[in-house]
Amino acid sequence: MAGKDLDFKAKSCWDILTGKKHLKAMEALSAQYMTFLSACKTEREVIDFVRNKALSAGYREDFSFPKVFRVLGEKTIFLARKGKAPLNSGFRLIGAHADSPRLDFKQRPLYEECAVGLAKTHYYGGIRKYHWLARLLALHGVVVKKSGESVPVRIGEDPNDPVFTVLDLLPHLASKQMEKKLSTVFEGEKLNVVLGHAPAENDKKDNNDKNNKDAVKKKVLEMLNKRYQIVEEDLFSAEIQAVPAGAAREVGLDRSLVGGYGQDDRICVHAALSALLSEPAPAHTQVLVFWDKEEIGSDGATGAKSLFFEYCLKDLIHAWSPKTRLNHVFMNSKALSADVHAAMDPDYQDVHEKLNAALLGYGPCFSKFTGHRGKAGANDANAEYVAWLRNLLDTAGIPWQMAELGKVDMGGGGTVAKFLAIYGMDVIDFGPAILSMHSPFEISSKMDLYAGMLAYKAFLGS
Ligand code: MN
Ligand code: MN
Repeated sequence: MAGKDLDFKAKSCWDILTGKKHLKAMEALSAQYMTFLSACKTEREVIDFVRNKALSAGYREDFSFPKVFRVLGEKTIFLARKGKAPLNSGFRLIGAHADSPRLDFKQRPLYEECAVGLAKTHYYGGIRKYHWLARLLALHGVVVKKSGESVPVRIGEDPNDPVFTVLDLLPHLASKQMEKKLSTVFEGEKLNVVLGHAPAENDKKDNNDKNNKDAVKKKVLEMLNKRYQIVEEDLFSAEIQAVPAGAAREVGLDRSLVGGYGQDDRICVHAALSALLSEPAPAHTQVLVFWDKEEIGSDGATGAKSLFFEYCLKDLIHAWSPKTRLNHVFMNSKALSADVHAAMDPDYQDVHEKLNAALLGYGPCFSKFTGHRGKAGANDANAEYVAWLRNLLDTAGIPWQMAELGKVDMGGGGTVAKFLAIYGMDVIDFGPAILSMHSPFEISSKMDLYAGMLAYKAFLGS
């Protein structure tokens, strides 16, 4: 073997997936992805989008069909498509998450102070609190009335809509604040969303209302009532989320990057769904699961720790192959935990260990293990499985990379991989590397989205 073949050199997708055909397909996929990213900013919106795509592709809720789906709580979805091979030879599963960090309205949010109407929030997931100050926000969510009627809320995305914001302190009066540590300087209780300012008109018939007390809050309630026919008490059974307003955008003079909110982990949701829907007749049964609550630990009925996935599998076996044993199906299955990875940040290269860091545009990234401090809490994928995947992707000519999340003891993270691993199936983390992860404007490479979709397609078709 020649010397040049002995050492490994990382290759960029831009040098491998060349030619008009690839570039055209990449642009078409990114255009669809950006439309999806702009439209779906909460797990409910993502699940609704996926359900509609599945329905138009012939997926049914009745598990006796060969293409099926099931939704739980409007926040998690299971999709399966029957393969040629019997179920006891296992399935090919891709799991991803549909939730992203944001500001959730508290259950009793509305108040006014200093002639401003506001809403109290409790942040969701790992945010950098300063990201949410002085920026355009939209409100997405639902208000469920006592009658059971669910009222969808969405304000701040239409160009004719108003937007919302969280206030920031002026630098002129920030001298004390400047002395504080970043970990304590921005308080969660100060992440309140500005909702209004004009007072409601004094109701002359109401004698108790002479001072027009709480008139700004009242006006906010009037506006909400006019738009959604709801009253303050209805907010107790509401899920309203403040998210960055506006559409995803192309970034860079060459338009090679996608910038937008919630790419962790909607880039994997979109790539996996596109792969499933474009894949021809499958060898093995194919399964996609998109969960909620990954950003807060995967607890809850719609998170990956719940038994929803297992229940779906039981029903699938009952419908498709009643004599097959669930544990045999699990043990013979292969899975990808499709989640984003941190790309090496040009300005913070020191937190990465360069030999084992992901580069933007170098293809979807395997993370053999996650966890922190001595791999604690990690699903450390088997070398045999990694070798199988290397062979699969290299045979298909799809670029990929292997990386670790940052330097040892620098921090760490987790994904849903370990919740699939408990069933004994092979599973590894695999998804595009992005920049500015968990910020309101995450950055991905169009090439990584495209290569990721191709990789997921090759995996599902294996
Ligand atoms: Mn994620
Ligand atoms: Mn995340």
